[in-house]
Amino acid sequence: MYHGLIEDKFADECGVFGIFVNNHAEEIEIARTTFYGLYALQHRGQESAGIAVSNGEEIVLHKAMGLVSEVFSNEHIDSLKGHIAIGHVRYSAAGAAAVVNAQPLVFHYLNGMIGLAQNGSLVNSEALRQRLGTYGSVFQTKSDAEIVANLLARYSQDKLEDALAKCMIDLEGAFALVIMTENCLIGVRDQLGIRPLVLGELKGNYVLASETAAFDTIGATLIRDVEPGEIIVVDKNGLRSTQTANFNKSAHCVFEYIYFARPDSKIDGINVYKARRELGKQLAKEYKIDADLVISVPDSGTAAALGYAEEAGLPFEEGLMKNRYIGRTFIQPTQQMRELGVRLKLNTIPELVQGKRIVMVDDSIVRGTTSKKLVQMLREAGAAEIHMLIASPPTKYSCFYGINTSKKEELIANKMEVEDIAEFIGADSLHYISMEGMVTALERNEDFFCAACFSGHYPVAVDI
Ligand code: SF4
Repeated sequence: MYHGLIEDKFADECGVFGIFVNNHAEEIEIARTTFYGLYALQHRGQESAGIAVSNGEEIVLHKAMGLVSEVFSNEHIDSLKGHIAIGHVRYSAAGAAAVVNAQPLVFHYLNGMIGLAQNGSLVNSEALRQRLGTYGSVFQTKSDAEIVANLLARYSQDKLEDALAKCMIDLEGAFALVIMTENCLIGVRDQLGIRPLVLGELKGNYVLASETAAFDTIGATLIRDVEPGEIIVVDKNGLRSTQTANFNKSAHCVFEYIYFARPDSKIDGINVYKARRELGKQLAKEYKIDADLVISVPDSGTAAALGYAEEAGLPFEEGLMKNRYIGRTFIQPTQQMRELGVRLKLNTIPELVQGKRIVMVDDSIVRGTTSKKLVQMLREAGAAEIHMLIASPPTKYSCFYGINTSKKEELIANKMEVEDIAEFIGADSLHYISMEGMVTALERNEDFFCAACFSGHYPVAVDI
């Protein structure tokens, strides 16, 4: 199975979910609730899925390769009984797409059992692996979650919260972790809050998830975002919070708003759909194009296209139709198959675009191969002019924080100027939103976000 930039987009790596049931246990089927929570997070990872459940005495796990709906049958769900659960959907970050690397990971250690699921990526994983290796740790997987588990085991003489706080000193990078023992559920977010993690409530019980869309799906309500550097422990006595970040800083991944997160999610106080619409409006303020029609590259470009059309006073039409039944994983990574993949996924409506001067809005350009194909398809359908507008600045740098961006050299904006990219994709013009415009549209200060894939300024130092 290919794991890389199948869609010519940056790819999110994982989604996590956790629940501790103390109230109304008979009404909440814990594994089924976790299943639906993961179902809502499926866009964050399609390669493998897993759920671990504790009944207070032991942790039972089921995980496999595939989509959430493929991995779990009714029998699996019925067999996972207990009052604490964590779940994970994965799109390989560290380690190959194999079931051994699927999460949650479950271990026995000095104090009992522990289950872990992680979204994100450590930037010092190799150094930690070597350090732990010298203490005699052995590793079964390439995943960062196993490093965290080994660190926790190393500090197992401490109280769990203290052990976690010690781990936080060692862990560098971007991570949202859900961890369970037989008796408690834990949520941890990296010190800059790069990857998202939200805390919610379901019938008097605490839930954790990568995105609020998972809460909406299971009928839970958002309490708040887990703070950067915060450790949340939920047990039968309730919730305890420990703050480990000794500075008041954040670097929330701006790409969550641009592309990764579901538009119906709210992350760190920002509604994703509204953010995308505002990015489109900002694009229209920055670039006034003499055009007849605005279309989007569905689905991720649609909210921005609607915002653009509204601000520019131009009609919006669905000029590109998406085949919603295309899976991601069957497409082969050869150039030829990638180009066929675009046609399988998107088609033009000639009657709409014929003779028209088109503004086509997309959220980002990675390699440019999809944009090139779309421009060609629109030309074949009779479009008179095609102006491409991008609701993010040029993506010039790789992400080291749990997003699959491929190598820097493969990013078209890293090797070409905007005019040359326009020529490569065959558009009449190409415009990207400015960095300042992006931040303005999101109504926060620049230092609220990580925007390293645009600026090259990495908020956690990386070895490039
Ligand atoms: S480098 Fe880009 S994709 Fe990675 S965390 Fe920062 S903003 Fe997000």
